[in-house]
Amino acid sequence: MKLTPTSDIWMDGKFVAWDEAQVHVLTPSLHYGWGVYEGIRAYPTARGTAVFRLRDHLRRLHDSARVYLMDPGHSVDELTGASVELLRRTGLGAGYLRPLVYLDYGTMGVAPRLDSARVAIAAWPWGSYLGEKAEQEGCRLAVSSWQRNGVHSVPPLAKATGAYVNSALAKVAAVRAGYDDALMLTPGGHVAEASAANVFAVRDGVLFTPPVSDNILPGITRDTVITLARELGHEVREQSLTRSELYVADEAFLTGTAAEIVPVASVDDRPVGAGGCGPVTRRLREAFGDVVHGRTDTHDDWLTYV
Ligand code: PMP
Repeated sequence: MKLTPTSDIWMDGKFVAWDEAQVHVLTPSLHYGWGVYEGIRAYPTARGTAVFRLRDHLRRLHDSARVYLMDPGHSVDELTGASVELLRRTGLGAGYLRPLVYLDYGTMGVAPRLDSARVAIAAWPWGSYLGEKAEQEGCRLAVSSWQRNGVHSVPPLAKATGAYVNSALAKVAAVRAGYDDALMLTPGGHVAEASAANVFAVRDGVLFTPPVSDNILPGITRDTVITLARELGHEVREQSLTRSELYVADEAFLTGTAAEIVPVASVDDRPVGAGGCGPVTRRLREAFGDVVHGRTDTHDDWLTYV
């Protein structure tokens, strides 16, 4: 997806012109992948632009930094203010925010100096992540031969830049094989997640999604969907799933900030249910759309108005 530049990027407390937001090529984060980041969406509402679950994302950024022994040097409150100010400056009515904590240039080696953490926040317009067709008709997934990073290798709970070579290997292979995304499994064969989205199955009106212990990033959209589904009267179970349980689900869908809620049309060429967007997925997509666009005040606390 091509980046559309905006006017400014926030770097360590200052706004810098987009083209001048540079880092040195020898920053250890580039060489060893030691950095953490977030992906956040802002939506148009009747009361202006609103950022969805901004504080929850920034809290996860702090959690990820903690796992990687970095101090972002800016509190969640400060980063909230910076994000809002960035959206005002760039004039984006809707879009994607990308906070990044990385290491400054100056030392080299696989045990980098960790007291040089820097923070940047960028924002840009971002449309549908898996494409309009996948959004309407469902995406085609294939189980990847690449296993999902595990708790003993690269902790999936932290959103680390370097961890995404794992996702990228799986996604690139899936796309080259003609699928929309990869479904990644744990070493034990449980379904973990897609390359950058969590997965849900629906059977007999009950929602199933892998637990945090099955090597997933605990998604904020996943948490949103669990909340909304329960409000709609569905039972939701966080439990391990095998790939075959997805084959025989009535419906399946992916959740993520970039992806939002995307129906799964097929897994390994087996159509899931009727193959398109099922009724439970549709109802959740509508409920999600109402919340992020501020059309209901039941979850107004999830919106930070710009
Ligand atoms: N899993 C992975 C690996 C991801 O990169 C993402 C996107 N952040 C998700 C799940 C979904 O998380 P969220 O809903 O918080 O965006």
